[in-house]
Amino acid sequence: MERAEPMLLRDARLADAAELQDVLVRDGRIEAIGPALPAPEGVRIVDAGGWLLSPPFVDPHFHMDATLSYGLPRVNESGTLLEGIALWGELKPRLTQGALVERALQYCDWAVAKGLLAIRTHVDVCDDRLLAVEALLQVKKTVAPYLDLQLVAFPQDGVLRSPTALANLKRALDLGVDVVGGIPHFERTMADGAASVKLLCELAAERGLRVDMHCDESDDPLSRHIETLAFETGRLGLHGRVTGSHLTSMHSMDNYYVSKLIPLMREAQVHAIANPLINITLQGRHDTYPKRRGMTRVPELMAAGINVAFGHDCVMDPWYSLGSADMLEVAQMGLHVAQMTSQSQMRACFDAVTVNPAKLMGLVDYGIGIGRHADFVLLQARDPVEAIRLRANRLMVVRRGRVVAHAPSAVATLNLPDRPTSVDWTLRR
Ligand SMILES: [Zn+2]
Repeated sequence: MERAEPMLLRDARLADAAELQDVLVRDGRIEAIGPALPAPEGVRIVDAGGWLLSPPFVDPHFHMDATLSYGLPRVNESGTLLEGIALWGELKPRLTQGALVERALQYCDWAVAKGLLAIRTHVDVCDDRLLAVEALLQVKKTVAPYLDLQLVAFPQDGVLRSPTALANLKRALDLGVDVVGGIPHFERTMADGAASVKLLCELAAERGLRVDMHCDESDDPLSRHIETLAFETGRLGLHGRVTGSHLTSMHSMDNYYVSKLIPLMREAQVHAIANPLINITLQGRHDTYPKRRGMTRVPELMAAGINVAFGHDCVMDPWYSLGSADMLEVAQMGLHVAQMTSQSQMRACFDAVTVNPAKLMGLVDYGIGIGRHADFVLLQARDPVEAIRLRANRLMVVRRGRVVAHAPSAVATLNLPDRPTSVDWTLRR
């Protein structure tokens, strides 16, 4: 990739500044931010038009080995998590490395076009060939100039339940997979689930790695592996390095128990990831009416000071037939399911697909600030809430100072002589 030329962005709206700001970018970093900056000689000037300049979107929970496989070898008829896992088991032996790489790269292109420049993806290690691991390690290298891909070694069939999963998981880490995964609620018993959490956290501590487990993705109020995850995090000194993904059983838990659990999570600095599109689709499937929503307790976790992020989880795979790499779609669903409708809560939903996931992934020099990476997206919206409402156009996506995607703004062309036309989706206040 060629070196990016210096760029001066004029009149950008930053979420935390009242006045429009100019942003000077050089050598892949943000060099200066301020109103009406002088233009250095030879710099390329770009008019940001008063639109919102946001740090790039970050997806902290995805399955890139399964994405874009919808309908292979058949579709999920029941729509349940368990049929999805069975279907993935049917597909796995038929996967080829070439097809895995091709689908993943196609998804990364979608991601870049949507301003999504960092993704943490789980990769199933329960195939002894480790085909998907090798494929995604190759993809990680290929996309590195334009997208941060972080891989989680994910024992889909259970690290204890599947006979070769632990050995495979260690091999995957040896090959360069970044994070230790797990799925305690899928082990045979509650005791095995707890044992798997302990084992995997110890492995992560030994190797100095982060942990991100599929944890309690269930409507069973007694699925309490998050308690063990928080305990092991504290015991092993992994504070701030461990994430509980899904945590849907918390939706159904006894309130008194949760009043003890949330402070334990806070004490261990465990991060939480909700996957709103998938949780609202897969959970509550055994219910008649009333049907539970099955998303974890997002506003309560946030209020307790726990870092909560939203993930996309699935796009066109055995579990979910829709999705488009648009993290604003994810934020919008999260906002609705959690009924987070106040101004500050809606902004918190925007943070849940930008700064919060960046924090749990440990992204370095992320955000709009002097000296940080020049990675950002210019959204056709005036503020984060409007961005969610509109699922705003990505007018320009920049990675390390280089424009990697752009889109025109929508304009009506009615050509009526007495009615000049334009499309302004914003509400001027
Ligand atoms: Zn998942």
